[in-house]
Amino acid sequence: MIRLHQSLAILAATVLVCGIGRSDAADRLPIPDKLVVLEFDDALRTHYANCAPLLKKYGFGGTFFVCEGWDFATNKETFMTWEQIKKLDEDGFEVANHTGHHKMCDTLSREEFIAEVEHIERRCREHGITKPVTFCFPSGRHAPMCLQVLKEKGYLFTQRSHEPEFRQLERGLAYDPKEDHRLLVPRVHNFGPSRSWEDFLWALDQAKDGKIAVLGFHGVPGWWKPGEISVAHFEKILKHLRDNGYKCVALRDLARYVDPTKGPTDPSAPIRRRLKAQGK
Ligand SMILES: [Zn+2]
Repeated sequence: MIRLHQSLAILAATVLVCGIGRSDAADRLPIPDKLVVLEFDDALRTHYANCAPLLKKYGFGGTFFVCEGWDFATNKETFMTWEQIKKLDEDGFEVANHTGHHKMCDTLSREEFIAEVEHIERRCREHGITKPVTFCFPSGRHAPMCLQVLKEKGYLFTQRSHEPEFRQLERGLAYDPKEDHRLLVPRVHNFGPSRSWEDFLWALDQAKDGKIAVLGFHGVPGWWKPGEISVAHFEKILKHLRDNGYKCVALRDLARYVDPTKGPTDPSAPIRRRLKAQGK
C-alpha cells in the first residue's frame, strides 16, 4: 500500500511538472475523421418523444437548442414542456440556448440581445437545468455585437447554420476549426424537404481532414411538413452513422478537440473571404 502511495505521489508530481491535466491546448484531442455533431432546433416535442430515445439506443450525443418562440407556452402538441427539457439534460444530452423567443438577432439592440440570451439561462436555472454553454442564431442571423456578448458570457460555440455564404440548406459547409471562428460554426446539412440521401452522404463525406460535419434537425416528423422525415427515416440515419463508424456528439463536446483561444481573430473574415470568392 505504501508503495502504491509513493507511486501515486510520483505520478502526481510528474503531472504537475509536465503540466498534464491542465486544461490547455496540450490536452486537446486531434479531430478524428467521421466526427459529427447532431443538433435539434426549436424545442420541438418530437425531439423529446422520438429523437432522444433513438439517440440513447445508438449511444449518440446531441444538442437541443431551445427557445420559447411561437406559441411555446400553450401549444404542447408541438413544443416540449420544461420538464421534458430537464429530462434531456438529466439524460446527458446538451440543452442549449436558441434565444428566448426565436428572435432575429441581427435586428436587436445589445440590451435586447442580452435579454434574449438571459431569458433561456434564467429558465434553465429555474428548472435546475445545466447552464447553456452553446448558442444557435435563429435563421442563422448574427451580428458582431452578438458575438461580443456571447464571448463575454463565456459561450464555447455558437451555431450560425449556413448563413450567409450558402443558401442551399442541403449542402452547406463543414466546420473547420482552423478556418472558422468557434462563435460562427457552420452547418453542413439541415434535414428537410428536397434533401436527398445523396445530400446526406455528401455531408458526411466532409467530416475528414480536421473538419467536422454538423447536422441539423427541425422535428421528426418534420415540423413544417409532417412526414418529410419520419421516425423510421431518422433511425435509418442513425443506423447508417453507427454502422459506418461515425462518432456523434453534442456541440459542447467539441471543446475536447477545439482550443477556444485559437482560430481567426476576426470571426467574420472567413465568411467575407468565401463571399468574395463567390463574387458577392
Ligand atoms: Zn430555430
